[in-house]
Amino acid sequence: MKYSLLILLFTLVPFQFFGQVQNQESYANSITALELKEKLYTYSSDEFEGRETGTKGLTIAINYLKEHYIDLEVPSAKADGSYFQNVPLKLIKTPKVSMSVKEQSFDYFQDFISISGGESIFMNEDTILVGYGINDDNYNDYEDIDVTGKIVVAIGGEPKGENNNYLVSGTAEISKWSNNRQELSSKLNTAKEQGAKAFFLINDSMFKLYAPYYRARDEQGGESNLSLDVNEDDAMYGFLVGQSMEAVLLNGNEIKIDYNQESESISSDNVAAMIKGSEKPDEYIVLSAHLDHIGMHDGEVFNGADDDGSGTVAILEIAEAFKSALKEGNGPKRSIIFLHVTGEEKGLLGSQYYTDYDPIVPLAQTVANLNIDMIGRTDPKRLEGKRNYIYLIGSDKLSTDLHTLSEEVNSKYTNIELDYTYNDENDPNRYYYRSDHYNFAKNNIPVIFYFNGTHDDYHQASDTPDKIQYDLLENRTRLVFHTAWELANRDEAVRVDKAVE
Ligand SMILES: [Zn+2]
Repeated sequence: MKYSLLILLFTLVPFQFFGQVQNQESYANSITALELKEKLYTYSSDEFEGRETGTKGLTIAINYLKEHYIDLEVPSAKADGSYFQNVPLKLIKTPKVSMSVKEQSFDYFQDFISISGGESIFMNEDTILVGYGINDDNYNDYEDIDVTGKIVVAIGGEPKGENNNYLVSGTAEISKWSNNRQELSSKLNTAKEQGAKAFFLINDSMFKLYAPYYRARDEQGGESNLSLDVNEDDAMYGFLVGQSMEAVLLNGNEIKIDYNQESESISSDNVAAMIKGSEKPDEYIVLSAHLDHIGMHDGEVFNGADDDGSGTVAILEIAEAFKSALKEGNGPKRSIIFLHVTGEEKGLLGSQYYTDYDPIVPLAQTVANLNIDMIGRTDPKRLEGKRNYIYLIGSDKLSTDLHTLSEEVNSKYTNIELDYTYNDENDPNRYYYRSDHYNFAKNNIPVIFYFNGTHDDYHQASDTPDKIQYDLLENRTRLVFHTAWELANRDEAVRVDKAVE
């Protein structure tokens, strides 16, 4: 008796000492390539019809997720127990717009297109010229002009200095103000920030590029885009025009715009489950992945296995691992929210609704957001480094603690090559702004975005589950699990030391 008790004591001491780490690793090991694969073959199957927001496929997807959490016995994050957070959306159709200057009237598609808008409205006002429409530290067209409530007109491009360098960059490099991808949104958003009511961009080459595309889309049913269906007092009426309107707009004439919005309400849902923390239940870690994809085109299903089936099944597996821990009395100290957001492909709508209109738990008590969007493949453009890598974006932007924790956890448990290529401020892809974590980051909630980069199957029908590298998906999912575990269980919550105003 005595002898065996001694042995027991000897074995108990180290066990308690290392027990937590061993447990953590055994829960992580319950996340397997096989289980991820099984789930992903279902979630990205043709039956889910590409999970486009507002379609039957999306309804199938949200019900699948809900059933999964019910089976796991992981409760809803919502007080009503429903798992679904309704996200009101509207499908905006091509507006009916009549536009005239003096006696001359202009035609939609022929002379202008509407690129943003709101409720139906009639405007009859003088226009104000704002040069290129740039507001930058090195060059500002809005200095000394008050455009509040006005209709402003900007020309395309950006100015150069005497040495032929661009004034904004100070080099031969163009900036976001004239880069094809960003010019329109940069200038439109700036006019909005300055308080303008309507905005015209005169850019003939861009107009010639966009107008046929808008027309084709209109002919296919008039649906232009989805947006949140919430009260918008600050709607911005934006127009892109070609050469035919240049002269009348540059003359600062009075313009008449009769804008009639046509939209259709659409209902969609985020799915949210939660494991409550044992010691600090009012501090939250949000794990997110978008549940939607881009649907079907010409009868073909766009399966979205990597985008973002991979992130979706990763979160399901992580939830299962935390649930096993909870069952054995090792539940997280802080609460963990498993958040599957809708409408990402339509403009981060589900996450925007969550953060801007209806956070299920207070943002002020949200410690961090780990967002997963595409972690099952590799980037063919990445020519150097280990196969076992992942791009991390945002980890050091708001919280040094988070970045340090993330690095430590990886070197202790997963040893994945953490690649910060796209974390660069000047990354032209701007990935930091392009997935759901951004809606958390803009509220000064520290985020990490896990991402494998794009590939030839990105947003193609060929993004299928057979192309996923399940061993990598397993490693990366375990990394997110360990990071979430540490965030939830460390004594001190990660601090925000680089808040943005
Ligand atoms: Zn995505």
